[in-house]
Amino acid sequence: MTASSPVRVGAQRELRRRAAALFPGGVNSPVRAFGSVGGEPLLLERGDGAYVWDGDGRRYLDLVGCWGAGILGHAAPVVVEAVRNAALSGFAFGATHPLEIELGERIRSAMPSLERLRFTSSGTEAVMSALRVARAATGRDLVVKFAGAYHGHSDALLAEAGSGIATLGIPGSAGVPAAVAGTTIVLPFNDESALSEAFDRHRGRIAAVITEPIVANAGVIAPARGFLDHLRLVTRSDGALLVFDEVITGFRVARSGAQGLFSVTPDLTTLGKVIGGGLPIGAYGGRADLMKLVAPVGPVYQAGTLSGHPMAMAAGIATLDSLNDDGYAALNERVARLADGLHAAGQSAELKISVGRAGPLLTLFFTSKTPRNASEALAADRAAYARFFQRMLDAGVLLPPSQFEAWFPGFAHGDDEFEAIGAAAAHALRRIGRDDRQR
Ligand code: PMP
Repeated sequence: MTASSPVRVGAQRELRRRAAALFPGGVNSPVRAFGSVGGEPLLLERGDGAYVWDGDGRRYLDLVGCWGAGILGHAAPVVVEAVRNAALSGFAFGATHPLEIELGERIRSAMPSLERLRFTSSGTEAVMSALRVARAATGRDLVVKFAGAYHGHSDALLAEAGSGIATLGIPGSAGVPAAVAGTTIVLPFNDESALSEAFDRHRGRIAAVITEPIVANAGVIAPARGFLDHLRLVTRSDGALLVFDEVITGFRVARSGAQGLFSVTPDLTTLGKVIGGGLPIGAYGGRADLMKLVAPVGPVYQAGTLSGHPMAMAAGIATLDSLNDDGYAALNERVARLADGLHAAGQSAELKISVGRAGPLLTLFFTSKTPRNASEALAADRAAYARFFQRMLDAGVLLPPSQFEAWFPGFAHGDDEFEAIGAAAAHALRRIGRDDRQR
């Protein structure tokens, strides 16, 4: 189908029916079901730059960006070319491929704390493996995570998680043994004293603190000044490790990730999304002495049939080679202006809104105080967000179908797109404000 393809009303309905008969909830990842915003979920079948097309051929300005994986926009020609070339040479061999080395070296030179790293096929695997290393290195079992952060769907990490778990309004997942859940300590983000208290109580038993340095899975919550430094200090003084989950922030907020932006060096880092340019990927890495524990050198077992897949490596290389500081600066400036515009539009519509923002990541919260942690984010008016989402969709702008997710504008979004988003949002907020006053 091409950009000028006619709208095929009804095609999507039929696809939805078939999907519902196949997959739980009709989807292969829960948030795609639009459960918290209502309406029928979209089936998207094509993308180009900042735009996507649904099963009926209708176009939307996309702010989901494959949940942050697609920083260059859809079907970026350099990435398409790289993937095509890789495919023509054979998909995967189950042996080390030169492209793995190329991408690995690029990641290490942008994020020097990853002295050694390993590729996986998803962020979930990367986090799971990094924590296995942390436990092996320290000989300790407990892991601290923050409420509202999402670190993938491995058993121990679903407690009070963000993303789909927050969207569904459930405390965790069924099917997780109590003994496993019991190894996770959940604390409020941005709360230094809660962290210190946990370390006092469990002195010498905490293997690692894992955090999204910028929480992006409860909606965007920036770290308070000094909070990440505090994490570094407290972990180090107790002999625990600090793990930054940069699956979203890595190469999203800067080439050096959030760790470069805030000048805090973790012991281990997890990556995903952007480094695969939209293909399945994850990576974990960090201090060489820790990564030495990973098999075949050390006793921590971790493996993957398709790990380091050449097509994902090629997409990642082409993506990283397209990212430069000027691009990030321009994107940040556009996003800052959009955030100001959203704020002003909310004020003039007399709505209780706030904007969570960190670099190019942002969330419009339907609560008047910018959230500093998950419980403040969870106070946001989800029904108001759902109305906003639907009005934006009607205006041709696709937002994340949940209050508790980041918006992902990227390098394919130019001034025209930002202007269109700002105008659609101002209009939607005005209408919602008017409806509220008439109630
Ligand atoms: N960590 C973070 C911070 C994430 O946002 C995600 C996915 N949204 C994951 C880990 C898990 O990555 P994946 O979905 O690739 O397993």
